[in-house]
Amino acid sequence: MSKRIVLLGAPGSGKGTQGQMLMERRGIPQISTGDLLRAAVAAGSDLGLKAKAAMDAGELVADEVVIGMIRERLNEADTANGYILDGFPRTRAQAEALDSLLVDLGKPLDRVVHLEVDEEEIVKRLLERGRSDDTEDTIRNRMKVFRDQTHPLLEYYSERGLLVTVKGSGDLEAIYSSIVEALDA
Ligand code: AMP
Repeated sequence: MSKRIVLLGAPGSGKGTQGQMLMERRGIPQISTGDLLRAAVAAGSDLGLKAKAAMDAGELVADEVVIGMIRERLNEADTANGYILDGFPRTRAQAEALDSLLVDLGKPLDRVVHLEVDEEEIVKRLLERGRSDDTEDTIRNRMKVFRDQTHPLLEYYSERGLLVTVKGSGDLEAIYSSIVEALDA
């Protein structure tokens, strides 16, 4: 059974929703760098102030910032039996940093699940979601950032034999079942 899991997908692909379902049903924490960053912004911390401009523009927050957050989070006790990374890694540098961190911890990733949804559907979903960074311009920029910086990670993880692809459109429970099947295969 896969325990150390990355959910990879475009913004609006359903990583957050499926990550939460996995957390509730498999009892392992969902770790979302987007949520951690939004909490830092809300708290008005230095880290939050640094991150806010990039987030508002749909750009990525600096690698060092998110890598530091993940390093701290993966050292917490509740990750001992596994975790779901949602929205991290998003760049090659982040993927490499995660690899070396997990080598240090002696606990490599088990699976990377790519949630695949077509772009038309994603734009529609994000406009309906209506988060403050879900304006049409920002959405377009986030899609471009995904294509340029995050999409290449599919190859990175495929080469390492970790990647499984699941169709992310349709009924939530059906998507969840496909993910579980892919994780436990
Ligand atoms: P999300 O909730 O995953 O859509 O993330 C919201 C925003 O937070 C993104 O558009 C980025 O600005 C920032 N963010 C979240 N995760 C990362 C990451 N791994 N690397 C860089 N920026 C991130």
